[in-house]
Amino acid sequence: MMDGMLMPLDRGPARSSHGPQQVTMDYEAIFRDSIASLKREGRYRVFADLMRTAGAFPRAVWHGPDGEREITVWCSNDYLGMGQNPAVREAMKAAVDASGAGAGGTRNISGTNHWHVLLEESLADLHGKEAALLFTSGYISNEATLSTLGRVLPRAVILSDALNHASMIEGIRHSGAEKHIFRHNDPAHLDDLLRRVDPARPKIVAFESVYSMDGDIAPIDEICDVAERHGAMTYLDEVHAVGMYGRRGGGVSERDGLAHRLTVIEGTLGKAFGVMGGYIAGSHALVDVVRSNAPGFIFTTSLSPVLAAGALASVEYLKAQGELRARHQERAAQVKARLSAAGLPVMPNVSHIVPLLVGDPRLCKMASDDLLERHGIYIQPINYPTVPRGTERLRITPTPLHDDADVARLTDALREVWGRLEIRRAA
Ligand SMILES: *Cc1c(COP(=O)(O)O)cnc(C)c1O
Repeated sequence: MMDGMLMPLDRGPARSSHGPQQVTMDYEAIFRDSIASLKREGRYRVFADLMRTAGAFPRAVWHGPDGEREITVWCSNDYLGMGQNPAVREAMKAAVDASGAGAGGTRNISGTNHWHVLLEESLADLHGKEAALLFTSGYISNEATLSTLGRVLPRAVILSDALNHASMIEGIRHSGAEKHIFRHNDPAHLDDLLRRVDPARPKIVAFESVYSMDGDIAPIDEICDVAERHGAMTYLDEVHAVGMYGRRGGGVSERDGLAHRLTVIEGTLGKAFGVMGGYIAGSHALVDVVRSNAPGFIFTTSLSPVLAAGALASVEYLKAQGELRARHQERAAQVKARLSAAGLPVMPNVSHIVPLLVGDPRLCKMASDDLLERHGIYIQPINYPTVPRGTERLRITPTPLHDDADVARLTDALREVWGRLEIRRAA
C-alpha cells in the first residue's frame, strides 16, 4: 500500500553550493507518486459528498459537480435506518440540552457520564454478559481489546480467521503475541493449528459472525467446539449482526443460542444502531483488565454523552423491535431475488448483504459513477485492499426503508449499466 514511500528519488540528495551538508528531500513528490500509483490501478478513493436527510432516508442530497441532486443510498451501513429514528433523535436532543456537547475528559478523569454507565449496562444485558465496555468506535474496541488481551496473557497465541477485519489484525499485531491464521470459516484448519500449540499456553480464537463483504456467516458453534476442546478463549466480532439478528438484536450468537459460549462479543454502535461508538461484552474480570490496561480506552476523551444517549435509545428500541429485523431480512431477500432474476451476478450468501461481482477495479468505479450520475443511485465501488483483487464488487445494503419502487428502479438501473459497460453476468 505504501510502495510510493519506498521509491527512490529520481535525484539524489543535493548539496547546496555553499555551506557544508544541506540535504533536500522532495517529500511532496513522494506523496504525489504514491497517489499516482493508486490512480493507475483504478483504486483511488473518491468520497461522495452527501447530505443525509433525517426523515427521508434512504434519500439523501448529493453535492456533485453539477450542484445538488436527490439520490437514493443503497450502500449505507445504517442497516435499519436507526440514524433517523425519532426515538434516537429525541434522546440525543434531550441529552445535548441536559449534559452539553462533549464528555469533557477521559473516562478516568471526569469523562464518565451517567449515559455511559447506563449504556454499558444495556449492552451487557443485550449479550447476557456480566459487563460491557465502551470505546469511541468499533475499530478501537477491536484494536484496544485484542492488543491488551494478547499482552496481558503470558505467552499468548492468537488464532485469527483469514478474512478478519483490519481492526482485529492491527490489534493482534500490536499485542506482540504469536499469531496463526486459519482458513476462512474452517474449524478443521483451526483444530489443526491449535493441536500444534503447547496446551499450557493461553489461546484466543478471533473471528466474525457476518463477514460484511461476502455476507457469509461463521460456523460459530463448530468454532466454539474446537476452541473449547483446546481450552482457547473465543473473541467474536458481531459488528455486522448486532441490532439485526437474534430475538433482541444480540447478533447471530443470540439467534443461535451461543452467546454464553463466547468469551468476548464485540460490536459497534455506528452501523445498525445508527449512532457511533464500539464496545465489548464479557466477564467482569476481563472487562476490568481491558479497562485498566488498554491505551486506546484509557488515553482518549470518552464518547460524547449525546452519542451515548442516542445509542442507548437505539439499543433499547431494537431490543423490542422484531418487526424491523424481519422486514430487513425480507427486503434483502427481495433484492437478491429481483437482481438474480434480471441476470445480474449476485454473490449468493445467507445474510442481509447483497454483493454484485464486477471483477475489475476500473469497471467497478465506472459502474458506480454511472449509477450515481445517470440514475441517482449511490453504491460505492469496493476495491482492493477491502476485497481481494479480481473480486471488485458493488456491495448493496437493502434496508427496511427501501420500498418496492426503489427495488424496481435499482434493478432497471443495474441492468442498463451492466449492458452498456458490458460487465459479465455470471457470478
Ligand atoms: C466497520 C467494522 C468495524 C469497525 O467498526 P466502527 O464502529 O465502524 O469503527 C469492526 N469490525 C468490522 C468487521 C467492521 O466491518
